[in-house]
Amino acid sequence: MIPQETVQKILDTARIEEVVGDFVALRRRGADLWACCPFHGEKTPSFHVIPAKGQYYCFGCHKGGSAVGFIMDYEHLSYVEALRYLAKKYNIEIVEKEETAEDIANRQRNESLLLVSEYAGDFFKEQLKTAEGRAVGLEYFHSRGLEDSTIEKYGLGWAPSSRHAFTDAAKAAGYKDEYLLETGLCAAYDSDNRLHDRFFDRVVFPIHSVSGRVIAFGARTLKSKEPGKPYAKYVNSKESDIYVKNKSLYGIWFAKNEMARKDKCYLVEGYLDVLSMHQLGITNVVASSGTALTEGQIGLIKRFTQNVTIMYDGDSAGIHAALRGIDMFLREG
Ligand SMILES: [Zn+2]
Repeated sequence: MIPQETVQKILDTARIEEVVGDFVALRRRGADLWACCPFHGEKTPSFHVIPAKGQYYCFGCHKGGSAVGFIMDYEHLSYVEALRYLAKKYNIEIVEKEETAEDIANRQRNESLLLVSEYAGDFFKEQLKTAEGRAVGLEYFHSRGLEDSTIEKYGLGWAPSSRHAFTDAAKAAGYKDEYLLETGLCAAYDSDNRLHDRFFDRVVFPIHSVSGRVIAFGARTLKSKEPGKPYAKYVNSKESDIYVKNKSLYGIWFAKNEMARKDKCYLVEGYLDVLSMHQLGITNVVASSGTALTEGQIGLIKRFTQNVTIMYDGDSAGIHAALRGIDMFLREG
């Protein structure tokens, strides 16, 4: 196992123009370097390397990424193999670290949490096809102008009104209480000593990690508030080892390539804002999901672009959040 500090050193040291330049004859034009694309046949260069960003991109075949990504694609190596290649190129010594029992346990535990989340994502998606799901959930999505292709792509779903539907299905499929509780998909034992669903009678928006795994859910009720009863328009997954709220952005998995390509990101408030803009063909858009923007979220955006346009609702809370967001971007520089 390569220690994390060494991984960081390799990533910080590798210069994209040097790494690509070993395989492709690059010509400087302005700040960037251009070449005929090594991934698809062409006679005029649409492949370019952007040293300032440590990225490459081809306008022809849309391949793009970092120095590590280039080596993975060009040499057909795994991530770790590509890191070893770059370490060798830059004479960075790798002192292999034995994976401790704790490392292994943590890795396996995280994977278990991700598998439970993935199962839940599939479950909610399937429920959208039931009579209840279609009549209430799908009807709502359609009423908000969402097309079936968008609903499918973003994995939108329905959490049934029964308070045990998900729990029963997950338990029958062999998922352990420990992981169902840790992911916040199930809530504590009821009086019958049974787990019950934390998300029920709500439309569900899965939240993906930057690498495309389902890590959490946001769920919206379609009921209006009744006097004297507790009411939460949205219920969200609690924080867990796989979901750190202030480092997650809704839509990042679907937006990141376009964010890098357009060198721009739109930041909106809610799930539906992301989905509506996506349908308009604007795919470099993410949401901070109602919460105030955090420095961790800014860091995530900055992995792909420095340019952000904030589009929050015009109400006073929205304006306040937008101003605070702009202030943070300025401070982060
Ligand atoms: Zn290409």
